[in-house]
Amino acid sequence: MVEEFAFDNTEDRRKRRQSESGWVEVIVGSMFSGKSEELIRRLNRASIARQRVQVFKPIIDSRYSIEEIASHSGRKHLSEPVSTSADLKASVKPDTEVVGIDEGQFFDTGLIDVVIGLANSGKRVIVAGLDQDYTGKPFEPMPQLLCIAEYITKIHAICVKCGATANFTQRTVESDARVEVGASDKYEARCRQCFVPHSDAPTIHPS
Ligand code: ADP
Ligand code: ZN
Repeated sequence: MVEEFAFDNTEDRRKRRQSESGWVEVIVGSMFSGKSEELIRRLNRASIARQRVQVFKPIIDSRYSIEEIASHSGRKHLSEPVSTSADLKASVKPDTEVVGIDEGQFFDTGLIDVVIGLANSGKRVIVAGLDQDYTGKPFEPMPQLLCIAEYITKIHAICVKCGATANFTQRTVESDARVEVGASDKYEARCRQCFVPHSDAPTIHPS
């Protein structure tokens, strides 16, 4: 977390940015861990510093608000919906300095090369996403993005069962689809002790 302060835009860093290459920041954790909140916080600071910011999120479901990213606590930032990583790449303007990407786990694996390309061209790229799916498996392309990132922030929710640190996302409805869009109606933050892996859980009832 110490490095977090280094991301924020001191005058010095802003000057150096003109000649420096970019970098990649990745924010991961379970659902409700505050990933979107943290992404929005960083993007707002960049906007206040008058940097040119573009924010993207994948189009996955019409229930998702299409022109903004939102945290569960209600904080928002404008965003551009895109269907694929190629779409995202094509939508980034040459003079954009900061590229924010929310729900990174819902992009195709082409996102890895797109992020590398953006950082190589001098942009600060911030990707937020789930590191694990509802079964606890790494959720591509986030694991690959974690490997190539200069800065990683892993944050946690609070286990709704016991109050411990939650690293897992428990699905509370029956569905075997990897992508099942929902919030507290379908998911809970759980710690390792309280998380019931899907294979062990024929039926999980919301409490
Ligand atoms: P993420 O993007 O990681 O899903 P958000 O940034 O959208 O998370 O939402 C984080 C907010 O969700 C918290 O600030 C808090 O208000 C709320 N919240 C709801 N349930 C929990 C929980 N079990 N643990 C922590 N925060 C929770
Ligand atoms: Zn627990």
